[in-house]
Amino acid sequence: MVQFARCNALLSLALDASGKGCRYVAKGASGDDVLKDMGDHLQSVHQVNPTDMKLNIMASTKATRS
Ligand SMILES: [Zn+2]
Repeated sequence: MVQFARCNALLSLALDASGKGCRYVAKGASGDDVLKDMGDHLQSVHQVNPTDMKLNIMASTKATRS
């Protein structure tokens, strides 16, 4: 089971580095891994403080069987 969260579920108007809608998906074996992966992404690509988004990331993290 893999946990994942979509960037555009957190930042609906987020643009990626090339100015297109951000389709980044953070993945990990646990919620903490997703939180770390997405936190790094938010900070480096969107200049968003991941601490502010922590609860939103956790709320939008889902599990998949693939
Ligand atoms: Zn993004």
